[in-house]
Amino acid sequence: MIELPFLSGKRIAVMGLARSGIATARALAAAGAEVVSWDDGAESRARAQAAGIGVRDLADADWTRFEMLVLSPGIAHAHPKPHPVAAAARAGGCPIVSDIELLWRARRAARFIAITGTNGKSTTTTLIGHVLSKAGLAVAIGGNLGTPALELAPLGAGGVYVIEISSYQLEITPSAVFDIAVLLNITPDHLDRHGTMAGYVGAKRLVFRGQGENATAIVGIDDAHCRRARADLAARGSQRVIPISAFDGAAGGVFANGQWLIDDLDRLARPAADLSRARALPGAHNSQNAAAAYAVARALEIDRGTAAQALLDFPGLVHRQESVAVMGGVRYVNDSKATNAAATARALEAYENIYWIAGGVPKEGGIEPLAALFGRVARAFLIGQAADGFARTLDGRVPFGRYTSLEAALEAAHKAAQAAARKPAVVLLSPACASFDQFKDFEARGDAFRAAVNRLASAPQAEARA
Ligand code: ADP
Repeated sequence: MIELPFLSGKRIAVMGLARSGIATARALAAAGAEVVSWDDGAESRARAQAAGIGVRDLADADWTRFEMLVLSPGIAHAHPKPHPVAAAARAGGCPIVSDIELLWRARRAARFIAITGTNGKSTTTTLIGHVLSKAGLAVAIGGNLGTPALELAPLGAGGVYVIEISSYQLEITPSAVFDIAVLLNITPDHLDRHGTMAGYVGAKRLVFRGQGENATAIVGIDDAHCRRARADLAARGSQRVIPISAFDGAAGGVFANGQWLIDDLDRLARPAADLSRARALPGAHNSQNAAAAYAVARALEIDRGTAAQALLDFPGLVHRQESVAVMGGVRYVNDSKATNAAATARALEAYENIYWIAGGVPKEGGIEPLAALFGRVARAFLIGQAADGFARTLDGRVPFGRYTSLEAALEAAHKAAQAAARKPAVVLLSPACASFDQFKDFEARGDAFRAAVNRLASAPQAEARA
């Protein structure tokens, strides 16, 4: 747990009592702060109370008497409409902050690496953590993924926090300045929370805020928004800027040229790693993630060989193109984390002869942006609220069926793929949708898929496992 002695005796509100909110309330109580916690959900309140956290409604709080409001990342503080508690706090002049802000204030001696972008944050954050631990550094990985910020290990000088940070969290992390800030890519997503694309891009760019000459900005240059961010940073000249790309051409940076990751940091275009040997990093999108992690390693002066080797032995993440099993020439892939079309595009690009399970709560634009990849899909198995809309998009282009549950869709996809004359085939769960119509979160959806695949794999007729 992170100690917060500077908040001793202060009155602090905590809004949102999921994992990170509970960790925050605990850390604040341990610091001797006067904590007032609330969550609109009765279930979350009950869970917090069971964990020993007192709850009190913040609806009519006198915000002039609070030091700050620590807001959960899931609660709106601006668009589309601020949560009434956030709006009241702001009107009362009470600062709204994230738990990452508190971590940063508490551990100033350690170094901080922040990773943001529309897609690839979790992969890159985990990969950077892996590379840095392989190099022998004391690292703690968390933030928007895994361990809540205030439950991480207390690190001192020499320690490195590797923090995944969303655009919502960046907006309420006002004083943190990151030693290394990574912006991977920007595609439209979460516009509901930022109002406009300009708002979303602006929020992402906050990751570079306050960086000076000893800091490093690592910027993907594979989309127009990030290219502009990179050009603006370079023009301002405050920090070191390293461009990265999944394709050829990030001169002076790190990029992929086919299967090779190229280190051009000193303009020598050195082949750094053969990415075809990095089993957990398939596809061009992962070349972007690998380039980011390698650039971070080099910015920290980790030697090239150690950095490259760590990319190759990265074990990968669950729910992101996770290969669950291979049976009868069919691979079963759990890509439950693909909650938007851009993420699903990466999975459709990575395979052919795909038996595609998609659906859930659709995002704006649905799966129309994937039309160019429909040729890779043998048949689609649609679930959730999106099923009707997706069916209209696929009609006449891809054969499809509608199913009442993920399990039913998997069973049908399994039968069709096993019976198909063409092999190899892939049964792919890559929903291009949020999960909350049928599941608690994308992890629960992916776990359900994996469990159902494992049941099929252990059935008598199954041949081999992955
Ligand atoms: P995030 O944490 O940003 O949501 P993840 O690493 O969990 O990102 O990956 C989410 C989805 O995006 C996965 O389906 C993955 O295949 C895809 N993806 C991963 N890295 C990238 C990238 N650099 N660009 C585009 N898509 C990516």
